[in-house]
Amino acid sequence: MSVPLLDLNAQNLALEDELKAAFERVLHSGQFIMGPEVDGLETRIAAMLGVRHGIGVSSGTDAILLALMALGIGPGDEVICPTFTFFATAGCVARVGATPVFVDSCPTCFNLRVDEVARTITPKTKAIIPVHLFGQAAELDGILDLARAHDVAVIEDAAQSLGAEYNGRPVGGFGAFGTFSFFPSKNLGGFGDAGMVVTNDDELAAKARSLRTHGAKPKYYHKYIGGNFRLDPLQAALLSVKLPHYREYTGKRRANAAYYTEELSRLPGVAIAGGGGKSCQNGGSDEGDRGARVVLPAMHGQRAHIWNQYTIQVLGGKRDALKVALNEKGIGTEVYYPVPLHRQECFAYVQPRESLPLAERLSKVCLSLPVYPELTVAQKDEVIGAIATVLGGSEAGPEQRKPAPSVRGSL
Ligand SMILES: *Cc1c(COP(=O)(O)O)cnc(C)c1O
Repeated sequence: MSVPLLDLNAQNLALEDELKAAFERVLHSGQFIMGPEVDGLETRIAAMLGVRHGIGVSSGTDAILLALMALGIGPGDEVICPTFTFFATAGCVARVGATPVFVDSCPTCFNLRVDEVARTITPKTKAIIPVHLFGQAAELDGILDLARAHDVAVIEDAAQSLGAEYNGRPVGGFGAFGTFSFFPSKNLGGFGDAGMVVTNDDELAAKARSLRTHGAKPKYYHKYIGGNFRLDPLQAALLSVKLPHYREYTGKRRANAAYYTEELSRLPGVAIAGGGGKSCQNGGSDEGDRGARVVLPAMHGQRAHIWNQYTIQVLGGKRDALKVALNEKGIGTEVYYPVPLHRQECFAYVQPRESLPLAERLSKVCLSLPVYPELTVAQKDEVIGAIATVLGGSEAGPEQRKPAPSVRGSL
């Protein structure tokens, strides 16, 4: 049985009739730039997140870029962001001419370490970009405290965390800006590129809206140098078909993650990150994982995880072998992310560059498993069984080799 890392058709084709109707609506409207479809999605996302403004944009990357531009960040400025994240977080910082300053990440929650941020702030720091990685909020209290104390802006890169919560509130509305992506592999996956910027600040919202269309207001009068960062009405219409199902999608991802954690944690050599359930404030530790061969992702009580990725850590240098073994059984996995950003060739100029050991380690051990909402029980069991087989067979010598636990029987 094949288990792809992500099956877009399973979700989208279930809504085929409604999606076609939305396409026809836009086709017949004749309006292909801005208008009520975009306004509608902006209003619905803002309401869902409890923020004043939603600003539809062309991608999650452009959302970050627009936020940085609206904050006036540019040459000579430093922006602190995690090194263990998708490229766009730091790429946008460099594109506005500012310098990305990379910090290390927590081995328990994968998010940037507050103590490292504190150590890295200088008078040149203009913003901090916490990334809510894999669907779980970063340690926002500590970051917001530091930002207030040093008068720097916070841009939440919530591309992977639409609807994830921190202390009971959706992420995105804590900082000056929150940025989201509707790239097909994100939890609200669109039909191409799309994104959204959110903010509670009326002035910043007005500036971001203006910058989204070349900084013009009114048309052909340019106060700022902006760009074309608009969200297409067609994309907004199609996303609006999926949005009412979002709560259900998230519920299924959570159930899948809980099932993996429940079943995988029964296997020998498997531990839960941070000892399970403990907070990892200011970095956490993996002490509780000593002796484990596979470490499962932790879910913190005060942070409603939305499981964009279910990312395990495979220790003992066995990550790539497990990936190959699962692939041979038709199970798709991915390494997010094999090279931390401070080790990327294009950022070689960001000097002096110290070692960021926790992120470097994560890049060697992380492996994300299929966790998309439409996974069947049989597919999840296939993944669990395959991991059990590999774990059961990898260390014991031929004469002591224990039979791999059968999926349904002994798990
Ligand atoms: C996907 C992603 C982005 C970029 O979003 P796009 O829509 O692909 O441009 C930015 N940051 C993070 C953390 C992401 O996962």
